[in-house]
Amino acid sequence: RSGADPLLQVEKAVMQFGGLKALNEVDLAVRPGTIHGLIGPNGSGKSTMMNVLTGIYKPTAGGVTLAAGTEAANGSPGKRLDGRTPSEIALSGVARTFQNVQLFREMTALENVLVGLHHSFQGTLFDAILGTPRRRREEREARARAMAILDFVGLGSLAQVEARNLPYGKQRLLEIGRALALDPVLLLLDEPAAGLTAPDIAELTVIIRKIRDAGITVILIEHHMDVVMGLCDRVSVLDFGHKIAEGGAREVQSDPKVIEAYLGS
Ligand code: ADP
Ligand code: MG
Repeated sequence: RSGADPLLQVEKAVMQFGGLKALNEVDLAVRPGTIHGLIGPNGSGKSTMMNVLTGIYKPTAGGVTLAAGTEAANGSPGKRLDGRTPSEIALSGVARTFQNVQLFREMTALENVLVGLHHSFQGTLFDAILGTPRRRREEREARARAMAILDFVGLGSLAQVEARNLPYGKQRLLEIGRALALDPVLLLLDEPAAGLTAPDIAELTVIIRKIRDAGITVILIEHHMDVVMGLCDRVSVLDFGHKIAEGGAREVQSDPKVIEAYLGS
């Protein structure tokens, strides 16, 4: 697969809610190994796009394809994601975080990541119930992997802290860690910097770049323009469900159509 082929391709996606087209024939091509920004004023359709990509919503029309060359594609030219369930899409290698933090609040940071790793257990129910050696080995391996993920997102020393007792910025990083536990090829982040302090945003930025450098493609919805400018290789702009601009971060920021969309909001 050549580097120019997109990892994710969205073709003419339409998402209609009653009389409202939250997405109106939106095309999107995300190149592998990049951080692709998705920006636009409030209500422009960004979260709707995330929900279409992850199977929460079934698009009214249009297609979503994960490229060949991924495990998911299984040698075929690409795997259609539209119409599949959220768990099928997650197992295809597309992980996400939500605009509002969604963690198991009473569970520790480690346990939250272990939940994300659950899919990797190979043993049968029998192994689980009887605690067979196979199961015990898998659990040891899962804990080691979860700890490695926590270290990666800077939470290694907070593994035993309950999620609800973590500062908000750390909760957001834990959500990213839990998504990474799926071993994704594509990670979708919906406003990860929302509500964070400047030092938290700086830490988050470093981690998102590390994720990209580890070979995971990222789609980043973000309204902090400095974060978008600092991180994104390419940016698509939505306004009222239409894609109004696309290109390099700087190019898009100076596009009159984009400036007008933000001023009008
Ligand atoms: P953004 O994330 O860019 O702020 P959204 O994708 O959340 O915007 O919303 C886009 C538009 O679609 C908004 O007008 C919103 O009210 C509408 N919308 C989103 N989800 C639904 C839904 N489940 N039912 C009805 N309207 C929705
Ligand atoms: Mg949103």
